[in-house]
Amino acid sequence: MPKIHNFGAGPAKLPEEVYEVIRDELTNFKGTGISLMETSHRTPTYLKLNTEVQDIVRRLLDVPANYKILMLAGGGQGQFAAVPLNLISRTGKADYVVTGSWSAIAANEAKKYGEINMVVPATDKHTGIPDQSTWNLDPNASYVHICSNETIHGIEFDFIPDTKGVPLVADMSSNIMSKKFDVSKFGVMYGCAQKNIGTSGVTLVIVREDLLNQALPVCPIIWDWTANAKADSILNTPPMFAIYVMGKCLEWVERNGGLDKMAELANKKASLIYDIIEQSNGFYYAPVVKDFRSKMNIPFRVGYAGGDEALETEFLNSAEALGLIQLKGHRLVGGIRASIYNSVTVDEVEVLAKYMKEFYEKHA
Ligand code: PMP
Repeated sequence: MPKIHNFGAGPAKLPEEVYEVIRDELTNFKGTGISLMETSHRTPTYLKLNTEVQDIVRRLLDVPANYKILMLAGGGQGQFAAVPLNLISRTGKADYVVTGSWSAIAANEAKKYGEINMVVPATDKHTGIPDQSTWNLDPNASYVHICSNETIHGIEFDFIPDTKGVPLVADMSSNIMSKKFDVSKFGVMYGCAQKNIGTSGVTLVIVREDLLNQALPVCPIIWDWTANAKADSILNTPPMFAIYVMGKCLEWVERNGGLDKMAELANKKASLIYDIIEQSNGFYYAPVVKDFRSKMNIPFRVGYAGGDEALETEFLNSAEALGLIQLKGHRLVGGIRASIYNSVTVDEVEVLAKYMKEFYEKHA
């Protein structure tokens, strides 16, 4: 079997060192003689872990003291409901900036709880982010929701929108911890772990304290940020193992230079692939406009005139034979998608770039 290089969009590759630590601690967690998986969430062992993981998040992102860090179950989509349940009561209205599939799903979920204003014109061909001067923001919105990186379409915000004092809420599921974000510009940031920061089961939610205490009365307690903040994310049995893995991934980020280093590497890795696409005279085609091309997820088509499905199948099959796996594009957009989160090394991206170059030379 060839050496595997995993370019999956999520659940995605974890750093190899993280597996080594998990393996070593799997059946005997910190000398307790039992696994973390069989440890009560009320023990000092888990309480310590709970604090340590929050502390790393706070350090890495410089989270200000007036923000709570929550680690919740239910995935990114759980928060699609939690956001309106916790925030929409102020005016009953919210703004959604739909720049791809995930923000569209978030907006549809929010419609169950209030009046949702679409900030940018609807389209089924997302290739960028409309200029902010054209946005239709409602000054009476309870919040403005964006998706900072659209995992399927490969569209990433390169700016933090000015929402004129209305709290900004960001789904960062696929670019959280890939670079520094000025947390103080956001009311809420959230992201599921299974792409850049761990395995599925836990979602990180960072919420400004003044936005607590306004959940709708129907809000189930497990979605209630205020109740979870009071309980320090141990309101019910937390996804402990996923939280542990997230902590290990974040320690790995810290040991490897922190978020500035992750951002530098992300730029380098993304350029390796986008450059091949640009230099291919249209054989490879990236639909997203340059300013908003994601550094995490790179969707592209293979074959002149915007993509040839037979050639794409060949591209995927030969890639797989070489150990380059999980490169198939999402069914909504087709083609190929290379996801290159923190854990994917420059060397691995170079292997993919080399493969793309050779495939081009053979078929162009
Ligand atoms: N938001 C984004 C940007 C995502 O990429 C995903 C998952 N791919 C989700 C939300 C949903 O996450 P989950 O599957 O954990 O509900």
